Amino acid sequence: MTLRRHFPLLNRPGPRIAYLDSGATAQTPDIVLDAVRKFETHSRANVKRGVHRLAEAATEAYAKAREQVAAYLSVSADEIVFTSGCTGAINLAAHSFGTLLKPGDEIAVSELEHHSNIVPWHMLATRSGVKVNFLPIDGEGRVVVQTLSPRTKLVALAHVSNVTGAVLDVAAIVAEAKRVGARVLLDGAQRTPHGPVDIPALGVDFYAFSGHKTFAPHGVGVLWAKAELLDAMPPFLGGGEMIASVTTQGFTPAKAPAKFEAGTPPISGAIGLGAACAWLATLDWAAIAAHELRLTGRLLDGLRAVDGVTVIGPQGLQCRAPVVSFDLADAHPHDICQIMDRHGVALRGGHHCAQPLHAKFDLAGTTRASLALYCEDADIDLFFAGLAEAKRVLT
Ligand code: PMP
Repeated sequence: MTLRRHFPLLNRPGPRIAYLDSGATAQTPDIVLDAVRKFETHSRANVKRGVHRLAEAATEAYAKAREQVAAYLSVSADEIVFTSGCTGAINLAAHSFGTLLKPGDEIAVSELEHHSNIVPWHMLATRSGVKVNFLPIDGEGRVVVQTLSPRTKLVALAHVSNVTGAVLDVAAIVAEAKRVGARVLLDGAQRTPHGPVDIPALGVDFYAFSGHKTFAPHGVGVLWAKAELLDAMPPFLGGGEMIASVTTQGFTPAKAPAKFEAGTPPISGAIGLGAACAWLATLDWAAIAAHELRLTGRLLDGLRAVDGVTVIGPQGLQCRAPVVSFDLADAHPHDICQIMDRHGVALRGGHHCAQPLHAKFDLAGTTRASLALYCEDADIDLFFAGLAEAKRVLT
């Protein structure tokens, strides 16, 4: 079973690319490229502010994209805010929800978070006197669910770690957050590429993710929040299209989601993301998950057999996404990636925007293979061929 045939970049003439960097940016299938091309060639115009036929078609296509994304998350379209990406979405939440907090209130994140889910909260702390607490991680790179301080107002955690691949125990976090009356934000950047997300079943309050990691264009992302929160939160950016009215004295914001979408939104990106979500929703995720996990198992088993390799993350396949980061006898991850590239293997090396996590493991960086639904055994074969050379050259 493979879906590789749907991805033109992976099928271009020439030697195979073993694309194992989907955690950074996933490739885009024909169906998404076609949707974007159709919009650009048939209905390109700005949304909302025109009555001519192209403007109407663009507005309709943009609204349809919101519906498609909402369906992928099992939520209402009015609760979907299009942003510039996952980073944009978390910054929106930090600014806007942050204004509802008081000095002395607390926010809990964890040591494994991507900087996108740390720095906006540090910035909020500097602005408003809230305190940021860090939940610890265990030796396998999983968040340890601890008793939260009664002052905690928000728990903001990665649904899936972009370094360890650990899947968060959402039920445990939500139960503990509820106990102290805190809201829960999930950073779903590494989760949405691996199948539809049932947000109501998770019981969280905010969900953020990026289009480009979910087989859609760059420059678009999503913040989902419960309607009651979107109503209570003030706008973040001001500008056109986010107002009900403006006078020389002030303004009245529009209702959500428009309230949070100042200026021209990422229209064609959103249309691409809608198409991606609609396509992903048609796939057999039980089969894809089994396929992704089998390949992850091959990576883990093969890495374990290499002298000098340490995998940073869960050693087994339970509650694990197909993201595998490792250290090879302290060889520099960039050197490893360069040698792997000669074998056609695309990996990422460095701290992966997760410096606190790497500090915890006493490493400056790791080398990461991150898989998606188009990966095949041949990619894993190339990975191990490249790794054998990297080991020979660098250790
Ligand atoms: N959170 C996680 C877990 C991520 O992996 C990433 C991207 N590496 C982000 C947030 C930020 O996403 P973006 O750069 O698309 O805004």
